Amino acid sequence: MIRVGINGYGTIGKRVADAVAAQDDMELVGVAKTRPNFEAETAVSKGYPLYAAVEDRRHLFDEADIDVAGGVEDLVEASDVVVDACPSGIGAENKPIYEEYDTPALYQGGEDADLVDTSFNARSNYAQAEGADHVRVVSCNTTGLSRLLAPLQEEYGVQKARVTLVRRGGDPGQTGRGPINDILPNPVTLPSHHGPDVNTIFPDLNIDTLGMKVPATLMHTHSVNVQLEEVPTADEVRDLLGAESRLFLVPEKYAIDGAGKLKEFAMDHGRPRADIWENCIWDESITVEDDDLYLFQAIHQESDVVPENVDAIRAVLGEADREESMARTDEAMGLGF
Ligand code: NAD
Repeated sequence: MIRVGINGYGTIGKRVADAVAAQDDMELVGVAKTRPNFEAETAVSKGYPLYAAVEDRRHLFDEADIDVAGGVEDLVEASDVVVDACPSGIGAENKPIYEEYDTPALYQGGEDADLVDTSFNARSNYAQAEGADHVRVVSCNTTGLSRLLAPLQEEYGVQKARVTLVRRGGDPGQTGRGPINDILPNPVTLPSHHGPDVNTIFPDLNIDTLGMKVPATLMHTHSVNVQLEEVPTADEVRDLLGAESRLFLVPEKYAIDGAGKLKEFAMDHGRPRADIWENCIWDESITVEDDDLYLFQAIHQESDVVPENVDAIRAVLGEADREESMARTDEAMGLGF
Protein backbone atom coordinates (compact mmCIF):
# COMPACT_ATOMS: atom_id res chain seq x y z
CA MET A 1 0.00 0.00 0.00
CA ILE A 2 1.23 3.48 -0.86
CA ARG A 3 0.95 5.71 2.21
CA VAL A 4 -0.23 9.19 1.19
CA GLY A 5 -0.38 12.36 3.29
CA ILE A 6 -2.27 15.47 2.21
CA ASN A 7 -0.96 18.83 3.41
CA GLY A 8 -3.65 21.49 2.86
CA TYR A 9 -7.25 20.28 3.03
CA GLY A 10 -9.17 22.88 1.03
CA THR A 11 -10.84 22.79 -2.38
CA ILE A 12 -8.24 20.56 -4.03
CA GLY A 13 -6.89 18.74 -0.96
CA LYS A 14 -10.24 17.39 0.21
CA ARG A 15 -11.02 16.03 -3.24
CA VAL A 16 -7.60 14.41 -3.61
CA ALA A 17 -8.01 12.87 -0.14
CA ASP A 18 -11.29 11.20 -1.17
CA ALA A 19 -9.77 10.01 -4.46
CA VAL A 20 -6.76 8.53 -2.66
CA ALA A 21 -9.03 6.81 -0.12
CA ALA A 22 -10.90 5.21 -3.04
CA GLN A 23 -7.75 3.57 -4.53
CA ASP A 24 -7.12 -0.03 -3.52
CA ASP A 25 -3.33 0.40 -3.67
CA MET A 26 -3.24 3.54 -1.47
CA GLU A 27 -3.79 4.36 2.16
CA LEU A 28 -4.60 7.89 3.32
CA VAL A 29 -2.33 8.51 6.31
CA GLY A 30 -4.09 11.77 7.14
CA VAL A 31 -4.65 15.39 6.23
CA ALA A 32 -3.02 18.52 7.65
CA LYS A 33 -5.05 21.65 8.33
CA THR A 34 -4.33 25.07 9.75
CA ARG A 35 -7.68 25.66 11.45
CA PRO A 36 -10.76 23.83 12.70
CA ASN A 37 -13.21 25.12 10.09
CA PHE A 38 -16.00 23.21 8.31
CA GLU A 39 -13.48 21.28 6.24
CA ALA A 40 -11.76 20.03 9.41
CA GLU A 41 -15.19 18.82 10.50
CA THR A 42 -15.57 17.08 7.11
CA ALA A 43 -12.25 15.28 7.58
CA VAL A 44 -13.26 14.16 11.06
CA SER A 45 -16.65 12.93 9.86
CA LYS A 46 -14.95 10.88 7.13
CA GLY A 47 -12.59 9.35 9.67
CA TYR A 48 -9.44 10.93 8.20
CA PRO A 49 -6.71 11.48 10.81
CA LEU A 50 -6.17 15.22 11.18
CA TYR A 51 -2.74 16.76 11.65
CA ALA A 52 -1.99 20.33 12.74
CA ALA A 53 -0.27 22.12 9.85
CA VAL A 54 1.02 24.94 12.03
CA GLU A 55 2.24 24.11 15.55
CA ASP A 56 1.31 27.55 16.95
CA ARG A 57 -2.32 26.99 15.96
CA ARG A 58 -2.69 23.48 17.34
CA HIS A 59 -4.48 24.81 20.39
CA LEU A 60 -7.36 25.93 18.10
CA PHE A 61 -8.17 22.28 17.44
CA ASP A 62 -8.08 21.50 21.18
CA GLU A 63 -10.42 24.43 21.82
CA ALA A 64 -12.77 23.13 19.10
CA ASP A 65 -12.71 19.64 20.65
CA ILE A 66 -11.11 18.10 17.57
CA ASP A 67 -8.54 15.36 18.13
CA VAL A 68 -5.25 15.90 16.34
CA ALA A 69 -3.05 12.92 15.42
CA GLY A 70 0.16 14.99 15.37
CA GLY A 71 1.94 17.82 13.62
CA VAL A 72 2.59 18.13 9.90
CA GLU A 73 6.11 16.74 10.31
CA ASP A 74 4.65 13.54 11.77
CA LEU A 75 2.39 13.27 8.72
CA VAL A 76 5.28 13.81 6.31
CA GLU A 77 7.45 11.24 8.11
CA ALA A 78 4.69 8.62 8.05
CA SER A 79 3.94 9.10 4.33
CA ASP A 80 5.60 7.59 1.23
CA VAL A 81 4.50 10.67 -0.69
CA VAL A 82 2.86 13.95 0.26
CA VAL A 83 0.34 15.88 -1.81
CA ASP A 84 0.75 19.56 -1.01
CA ALA A 85 -2.54 21.33 -1.74
CA CYS A 86 -1.84 24.56 0.10
CA PRO A 87 -2.60 27.99 -1.37
CA SER A 88 -0.27 29.29 -4.11
CA GLY A 89 3.22 29.95 -2.79
CA ILE A 90 2.80 28.03 0.49
CA GLY A 91 3.93 24.82 -1.23
CA ALA A 92 7.30 26.44 -1.86
CA GLU A 93 7.53 27.34 1.85
CA ASN A 94 6.74 23.72 2.75
CA LYS A 95 9.38 22.21 0.45
CA PRO A 96 12.12 22.10 3.15
CA ILE A 97 9.88 19.90 5.35
CA TYR A 98 9.54 17.33 2.56
CA GLU A 99 13.27 17.46 1.89
CA GLU A 100 14.08 17.00 5.56
CA TYR A 101 12.14 13.71 5.67
CA ASP A 102 13.18 12.67 2.16
CA THR A 103 9.51 12.34 1.22
CA PRO A 104 8.60 12.94 -2.44
CA ALA A 105 6.10 15.77 -2.80
CA LEU A 106 3.46 16.77 -5.32
CA TYR A 107 2.59 20.44 -5.60
CA GLN A 108 -0.31 22.17 -7.35
CA GLY A 109 -0.52 24.55 -10.29
CA GLY A 110 -0.29 27.69 -8.15
CA GLU A 111 3.40 26.99 -7.51
CA ASP A 112 6.14 28.13 -9.87
CA ALA A 113 7.35 25.56 -12.38
CA ASP A 114 10.96 26.08 -11.32
CA LEU A 115 10.16 24.80 -7.80
CA VAL A 116 10.04 21.21 -9.09
CA ASP A 117 11.88 18.59 -11.12
CA THR A 118 8.99 18.35 -13.58
CA SER A 119 5.49 19.59 -14.21
CA PHE A 120 2.95 16.80 -14.76
CA ASN A 121 -0.07 15.81 -16.77
CA ALA A 122 -0.80 12.07 -16.75
CA ARG A 123 -1.84 11.77 -20.39
CA SER A 124 1.01 13.90 -21.72
CA ASN A 125 4.23 13.28 -19.76
CA TYR A 126 3.62 10.64 -17.06
CA ALA A 127 7.03 9.00 -17.46
CA GLN A 128 8.90 12.24 -16.73
CA ALA A 129 7.74 12.12 -13.11
CA GLU A 130 9.09 8.62 -12.49
CA GLY A 131 11.61 8.82 -9.65
CA ALA A 132 11.26 12.61 -9.28
CA ASP A 133 11.25 14.10 -5.76
CA HIS A 134 9.26 17.25 -6.52
CA VAL A 135 6.48 17.30 -9.09
CA ARG A 136 3.93 20.00 -9.93
CA VAL A 137 0.49 18.87 -11.11
CA VAL A 138 -0.36 21.69 -13.51
CA SER A 139 -3.37 23.96 -13.02
CA CYS A 140 -6.95 23.16 -14.00
CA ASN A 141 -6.71 25.05 -17.29
CA THR A 142 -3.31 23.64 -18.23
CA THR A 143 -4.57 20.15 -17.38
CA GLY A 144 -7.59 20.67 -19.64
CA LEU A 145 -5.47 21.94 -22.52
CA SER A 146 -2.80 19.25 -22.16
CA ARG A 147 -5.35 16.43 -22.23
CA LEU A 148 -6.79 17.83 -25.44
CA LEU A 149 -3.52 18.69 -27.17
CA ALA A 150 -1.72 15.39 -26.43
CA PRO A 151 -3.81 13.20 -28.76
CA LEU A 152 -4.00 15.93 -31.43
CA GLN A 153 -0.24 16.36 -31.38
CA GLU A 154 0.38 12.59 -31.56
CA GLU A 155 -2.16 11.89 -34.30
CA TYR A 156 -1.99 14.94 -36.58
CA GLY A 157 0.82 17.23 -35.37
CA VAL A 158 0.09 20.75 -34.17
CA GLN A 159 1.31 23.76 -36.15
CA LYS A 160 -0.11 26.25 -33.72
CA ALA A 161 -2.74 26.39 -30.98
CA ARG A 162 -4.70 29.56 -30.19
CA VAL A 163 -6.93 29.48 -27.13
CA THR A 164 -9.13 32.06 -25.43
CA LEU A 165 -9.82 31.06 -21.83
CA VAL A 166 -13.03 32.46 -20.38
CA ARG A 167 -12.33 31.94 -16.71
CA ARG A 168 -14.69 31.79 -13.76
CA GLY A 169 -14.09 34.71 -11.40
CA GLY A 170 -13.71 32.45 -8.36
CA ASP A 171 -14.71 29.08 -6.96
CA PRO A 172 -18.21 28.90 -5.36
CA GLY A 173 -16.70 29.16 -1.87
CA GLN A 174 -14.44 32.11 -2.74
CA THR A 175 -16.84 34.84 -1.67
CA GLY A 176 -14.21 37.57 -1.94
CA ARG A 177 -13.46 37.05 -5.64
CA GLY A 178 -14.91 38.75 -8.70
CA PRO A 179 -15.78 40.43 -10.95
CA ILE A 180 -19.43 40.61 -9.80
CA ASN A 181 -20.69 42.55 -12.82
CA ASP A 182 -18.04 42.88 -15.48
CA ILE A 183 -16.19 41.11 -18.29
CA LEU A 184 -12.45 41.50 -17.93
CA PRO A 185 -9.68 40.86 -20.40
CA ASN A 186 -7.41 39.23 -17.79
CA PRO A 187 -4.56 39.63 -18.21
CA VAL A 188 -4.93 42.45 -20.75
CA THR A 189 -1.51 41.65 -22.17
CA LEU A 190 -0.64 38.56 -24.22
CA PRO A 191 0.10 35.81 -23.65
CA SER A 192 -1.85 34.85 -20.54
CA HIS A 193 0.25 32.60 -18.29
CA HIS A 194 -1.58 29.53 -19.61
CA GLY A 195 0.37 29.20 -22.87
CA PRO A 196 3.79 29.23 -21.18
CA ASP A 197 2.37 26.82 -18.60
CA VAL A 198 1.32 24.40 -21.35
CA ASN A 199 4.93 24.66 -22.56
CA THR A 200 6.10 23.17 -19.23
CA ILE A 201 4.37 19.99 -20.46
CA PHE A 202 4.98 20.39 -24.23
CA PRO A 203 8.20 22.45 -24.51
CA ASP A 204 8.11 22.72 -28.33
CA LEU A 205 4.41 23.41 -28.81
CA ASN A 206 3.53 26.67 -30.54
CA ILE A 207 0.63 28.10 -28.49
CA ASP A 208 -0.86 31.55 -27.89
CA THR A 209 -3.40 32.07 -25.09
CA LEU A 210 -5.67 34.95 -24.12
CA GLY A 211 -7.43 35.14 -20.77
CA MET A 212 -10.71 36.66 -19.65
CA LYS A 213 -12.57 36.65 -16.32
CA VAL A 214 -16.35 36.66 -16.01
CA PRO A 215 -18.90 36.73 -13.16
CA ALA A 216 -19.33 32.95 -12.87
CA THR A 217 -18.19 30.30 -10.40
CA LEU A 218 -19.16 27.02 -12.03
CA MET A 219 -16.52 26.24 -14.67
CA HIS A 220 -14.02 27.71 -17.13
CA THR A 221 -14.78 27.66 -20.87
CA HIS A 222 -12.12 27.47 -23.56
CA SER A 223 -12.57 28.61 -27.13
CA VAL A 224 -9.97 26.50 -28.93
CA ASN A 225 -8.42 26.77 -32.39
CA VAL A 226 -5.69 24.28 -33.30
CA GLN A 227 -3.97 24.51 -36.66
CA LEU A 228 -3.00 20.95 -37.58
CA GLU A 229 -0.20 19.57 -39.75
CA GLU A 230 -2.25 16.68 -41.15
CA VAL A 231 -5.88 17.58 -41.74
CA PRO A 232 -8.54 15.14 -40.47
CA THR A 233 -12.31 15.34 -40.89
CA ALA A 234 -14.38 16.55 -37.94
CA ASP A 235 -15.68 13.00 -37.47
CA GLU A 236 -12.14 11.65 -37.29
CA VAL A 237 -11.39 14.20 -34.57
CA ARG A 238 -14.54 13.10 -32.72
CA ASP A 239 -13.40 9.48 -32.85
CA LEU A 240 -9.93 10.39 -31.64
CA LEU A 241 -11.08 12.55 -28.74
CA GLY A 242 -13.99 10.26 -27.86
CA ALA A 243 -11.53 7.42 -27.22
CA GLU A 244 -9.78 9.39 -24.46
CA SER A 245 -11.05 8.45 -21.00
CA ARG A 246 -10.73 11.98 -19.59
CA LEU A 247 -12.42 13.76 -22.48
CA PHE A 248 -16.21 13.75 -22.44
CA LEU A 249 -17.86 14.65 -25.75
CA VAL A 250 -21.12 16.29 -24.74
CA PRO A 251 -23.74 14.83 -27.13
CA GLU A 252 -25.91 17.32 -28.99
CA LYS A 253 -29.05 15.37 -27.99
CA TYR A 254 -28.44 16.13 -24.29
CA ALA A 255 -29.19 19.82 -25.00
CA ILE A 256 -26.57 20.93 -22.49
CA ASP A 257 -26.02 24.59 -23.30
CA GLY A 258 -23.49 25.60 -20.66
CA ALA A 259 -21.82 25.00 -17.32
CA GLY A 260 -25.07 25.14 -15.32
CA LYS A 261 -26.57 22.12 -17.10
CA LEU A 262 -23.23 20.31 -17.04
CA LYS A 263 -23.21 20.61 -13.25
CA GLU A 264 -26.84 19.46 -13.11
CA PHE A 265 -25.85 16.48 -15.25
CA ALA A 266 -23.00 15.69 -12.84
CA MET A 267 -25.39 15.88 -9.87
CA ASP A 268 -27.91 13.66 -11.69
CA HIS A 269 -25.10 11.12 -12.00
CA GLY A 270 -24.42 11.31 -8.27
CA ARG A 271 -21.01 12.84 -8.67
CA PRO A 272 -19.47 13.83 -5.30
CA ARG A 273 -19.56 17.62 -4.87
CA ALA A 274 -21.01 17.76 -8.44
CA ASP A 275 -17.45 17.22 -9.66
CA ILE A 276 -16.67 16.84 -13.35
CA TRP A 277 -13.23 15.29 -13.65
CA GLU A 278 -13.33 15.16 -17.46
CA ASN A 279 -12.93 17.93 -20.05
CA CYS A 280 -16.41 18.61 -21.44
CA ILE A 281 -16.13 19.15 -25.20
CA TRP A 282 -19.30 20.12 -27.07
CA ASP A 283 -19.50 17.48 -29.77
CA GLU A 284 -21.24 19.73 -32.29
CA SER A 285 -18.64 22.47 -31.79
CA ILE A 286 -15.93 20.26 -33.32
CA THR A 287 -15.33 21.83 -36.72
CA VAL A 288 -12.53 21.62 -39.28
CA GLU A 289 -12.06 24.55 -41.68
CA ASP A 290 -9.06 24.21 -44.00
CA ASP A 291 -6.32 23.08 -41.60
CA ASP A 292 -7.94 24.66 -38.53
CA LEU A 293 -9.77 22.68 -35.85
CA TYR A 294 -12.21 24.60 -33.67
CA LEU A 295 -14.08 23.53 -30.54
CA PHE A 296 -15.44 24.67 -27.18
CA GLN A 297 -14.65 22.87 -23.95
CA ALA A 298 -15.66 23.47 -20.34
CA ILE A 299 -13.30 22.67 -17.48
CA HIS A 300 -14.37 22.10 -13.87
CA GLN A 301 -11.61 23.97 -12.09
CA GLU A 302 -12.15 22.34 -8.70
CA SER A 303 -11.85 18.74 -9.82
CA ASP A 304 -10.11 18.03 -13.16
CA VAL A 305 -6.67 17.93 -11.46
CA VAL A 306 -7.81 15.30 -8.92
CA PRO A 307 -7.24 12.13 -11.02
CA GLU A 308 -3.95 13.69 -12.17
CA ASN A 309 -2.75 13.91 -8.55
CA VAL A 310 -3.60 10.24 -8.03
CA ASP A 311 -1.59 9.26 -11.12
CA ALA A 312 1.33 11.46 -10.08
CA ILE A 313 1.52 9.53 -6.79
CA ARG A 314 2.06 6.25 -8.68
CA ALA A 315 4.38 7.93 -11.17
CA VAL A 316 6.87 9.34 -8.64
CA LEU A 317 7.07 5.98 -6.84
CA GLY A 318 7.33 3.99 -10.10
CA GLU A 319 4.34 1.89 -9.04
CA ALA A 320 2.62 1.69 -12.43
CA ASP A 321 3.00 2.88 -16.00
CA ARG A 322 0.72 5.52 -17.50
CA GLU A 323 -1.95 3.23 -18.97
CA GLU A 324 -2.21 1.10 -15.85
CA SER A 325 -2.31 4.05 -13.47
CA MET A 326 -4.87 6.04 -15.45
CA ALA A 327 -7.10 2.98 -15.80
CA ARG A 328 -6.90 2.21 -12.06
CA THR A 329 -7.59 5.82 -11.13
CA ASP A 330 -10.52 6.12 -13.53
CA GLU A 331 -12.05 2.86 -12.35
CA ALA A 332 -11.71 3.63 -8.63
CA MET A 333 -13.08 7.17 -8.97
CA GLY A 334 -15.77 6.30 -11.49
CA LEU A 335 -14.67 8.51 -14.37
CA GLY A 336 -16.72 8.48 -17.54
CA PHE A 337 -20.41 9.30 -18.00
P1 NAD B 1 -7.90 26.48 -0.86
O1 NAD B 1 -7.67 27.81 -0.24
O2 NAD B 1 -9.30 26.05 -1.15
O3 NAD B 1 -7.25 25.35 0.05
C1 NAD B 1 -5.99 25.48 0.62
C2 NAD B 1 -6.03 24.90 2.03
O4 NAD B 1 -4.71 24.96 2.59
C3 NAD B 1 -6.94 25.70 2.96
O5 NAD B 1 -7.72 24.79 3.71
C4 NAD B 1 -5.96 26.45 3.86
O6 NAD B 1 -6.48 26.68 5.15
C5 NAD B 1 -4.81 25.46 3.92
N1 NAD B 1 -3.51 26.03 4.31
C6 NAD B 1 -3.09 27.31 4.27
N2 NAD B 1 -1.81 27.40 4.71
C7 NAD B 1 -1.43 26.14 5.03
C8 NAD B 1 -0.24 25.58 5.55
N3 NAD B 1 0.84 26.31 5.82
N4 NAD B 1 -0.20 24.24 5.76
C9 NAD B 1 -1.27 23.46 5.49
N5 NAD B 1 -2.43 23.95 5.00
C10 NAD B 1 -2.50 25.27 4.77
O7 NAD B 1 -7.01 26.43 -2.16
P2 NAD B 1 -7.21 25.48 -3.42
O8 NAD B 1 -8.18 26.11 -4.34
O9 NAD B 1 -7.43 24.08 -2.97
O10 NAD B 1 -5.79 25.63 -4.13
C11 NAD B 1 -4.68 24.89 -3.71
C12 NAD B 1 -3.68 24.81 -4.83
O11 NAD B 1 -4.30 24.17 -5.93
C13 NAD B 1 -3.17 26.16 -5.36
O12 NAD B 1 -1.84 25.99 -5.83
C14 NAD B 1 -4.07 26.42 -6.53
O13 NAD B 1 -3.49 27.28 -7.48
C15 NAD B 1 -4.23 25.02 -7.07
N6 NAD B 1 -5.44 24.81 -7.88
C16 NAD B 1 -6.64 25.33 -7.50
C17 NAD B 1 -7.74 25.13 -8.31
C18 NAD B 1 -9.08 25.71 -7.96
O14 NAD B 1 -9.84 26.04 -8.83
N7 NAD B 1 -9.44 25.85 -6.72
C19 NAD B 1 -7.62 24.38 -9.47
C20 NAD B 1 -6.40 23.79 -9.79
C21 NAD B 1 -5.30 24.03 -8.99
